[in-house]
Amino acid sequence: MQNKGMLVLFSGPSGVGKDTVLDIILDKDDMLQRSISLTTREKRQGETDGVDYYFITKDRFLTMVEDGQVLEYAQYGENIYGTPKEPVDKWLKEGKTVILKIEVKGAQKIRELYPDAVSIFLLPPSMQVLENRIRRRGTENEQDIAKRLEIAKNEICRSADYDFVVVNDDIDEASNNVLSIIKALNFTYKRMNHKISEVIKNV
Ligand code: 5GP
Repeated sequence: MQNKGMLVLFSGPSGVGKDTVLDIILDKDDMLQRSISLTTREKRQGETDGVDYYFITKDRFLTMVEDGQVLEYAQYGENIYGTPKEPVDKWLKEGKTVILKIEVKGAQKIRELYPDAVSIFLLPPSMQVLENRIRRRGTENEQDIAKRLEIAKNEICRSADYDFVVVNDDIDEASNNVLSIIKALNFTYKRMNHKISEVIKNV
């Protein structure tokens, strides 16, 4: 019998390296599925619609919310971000490990809806390193950078709500640590008890 899938909430401040970690771990494990979020923000250079995000208008976003097609959504800066419901439910039924890249308020809503969801917070080694990384990305203006750093401080204060905290000092080490956590979660008693029942069935 196949286990029901697992939901992993992956948070961390803007610029900490969540996308890079996700790209690395998704390449290493076929059972991992990344959820593609909806957003009203402008596409950045190098981003593709339907790959990085579904870039939609605010009107369309709100219609989808009214129609019950959005699992959770949250305002971040000037924009709204949300998780489409249907694909997540489908992947969980297929037994996949679904990873949501999500900010802290959205993560809290998902915990209420899916109490079994596991959460990982990616932490920068320092605020200075975080600021340098956002500046190096070169996609935000000064005002946006200041806003993102302000949000980052608040988010880091909420890391206590998370099951695991991984520091992203070295990207390969951080990716390996995130993947090890996810792999280990497949072997909790709760997820293995169907196997135990099978083993002792004919004893
Ligand atoms: P960015 O603009 O840097 O791509 O994302 C900004 C923030 O939105 C990040 O903290 C990211 O984790 C969060 N985010 C991305 N997708 C979602 C989503 O579907 N729901 C929520 N609540 N936050 C999201």
